[in-house]
Amino acid sequence: MYDIIIVGAGPAGLTAAIYGKRAAKSVLVLEGASYGGQIINTADIENYPVAEHISGFEFATNIYNQAKNLGAEIKFEKVLSVEVDGSVKNVITKKNTYAAKSVILATGSENRKLGLENEDDLVGRGVSYCATCDGAFYKHKTAAVVGGGNTALEDALYLSNIADKVYLIHRRDKFRGEESTVELLKKKDNVVFVYDSVVTKLIADKKLQSIEVTNKDGTIRNIDVNGLFVAVGRIPTNSAFSGLLELDESGYVKASENCKTNVPGIFAAGDNRAKEVRQLVTAAADGAVAATQAVNYINNFDA
Ligand code: NAP
Repeated sequence: MYDIIIVGAGPAGLTAAIYGKRAAKSVLVLEGASYGGQIINTADIENYPVAEHISGFEFATNIYNQAKNLGAEIKFEKVLSVEVDGSVKNVITKKNTYAAKSVILATGSENRKLGLENEDDLVGRGVSYCATCDGAFYKHKTAAVVGGGNTALEDALYLSNIADKVYLIHRRDKFRGEESTVELLKKKDNVVFVYDSVVTKLIADKKLQSIEVTNKDGTIRNIDVNGLFVAVGRIPTNSAFSGLLELDESGYVKASENCKTNVPGIFAAGDNRAKEVRQLVTAAADGAVAATQAVNYINNFDA
């Protein structure tokens, strides 16, 4: 039986692994996709203390290596559910069942979709949720970004250096993201701001050809684009735990700043936890808090 099983190898999960190993506990990290979580797709990080400028890939790789070098076991298996059997937690993956004294859920969040009819079919054929992954395909082409948060702003900025023209489509006339990025975008002569508007249709042959955009005054127009980058926020990846834990109305795990859920020995860390600020630094902080709480729990468990 492991002392701590961590579900998710993003910044929260890997920080928890570092803290768990440094407290001399056995740690298994289970990850369904690749390590690094959301941050691996971030081009540049400039708001993490000490690392004045680092790529998302380098950040993710460093933290992965740090956890591994400390002795954390990391397996790439998707977790399907967690079951509680007295004080033992069974973590069930597609291949195996692993038992642990404590579990830290650091599953992060996934892309919110626009919910348009052919959106799923056009992924990889013009529709993308990751500008740094797919932006290079739009060199000297026309791209559009939907959203008004930091992701949309940063995606538009990134794409403005690749594509000939970038439309930034937001449903309001004020951005949720940082004003400093808005100012940088306003200086770009190939960025067109489309306010008070939503994308209502994706028009495609085999690939995306254009988008129908509806203004809040009811005006409808088509914009020819080669690529549409959807950056309208994220939803927590907690559906596998809905029968196990208390979630809030938006699907985030109800856990306070000590990362404790309503189930003793199960903790939540990072973007899947109900909280105000979801940043890289707060995800890492959650990982440290959750692991410390898990270690306290295990020490009582063993007593
Ligand atoms: P977000 O801040 O939740 O913004 C989502 C945006 O999408 C909002 O502007 C929202 O509009 C819009 N939206 C939501 N549903 C929509 C729909 N169905 N149709 C059209 N627009 C829709 O999400 P995010 O930008 O992904 O950022 C998530 C978190 O990560 C934030 O805390 C953000 O600050 C952080 N982040 C930080 C950095 C950084 O620090 N460098 C980089 C990226 C992300 P409304 O504004 O009208 O609600």
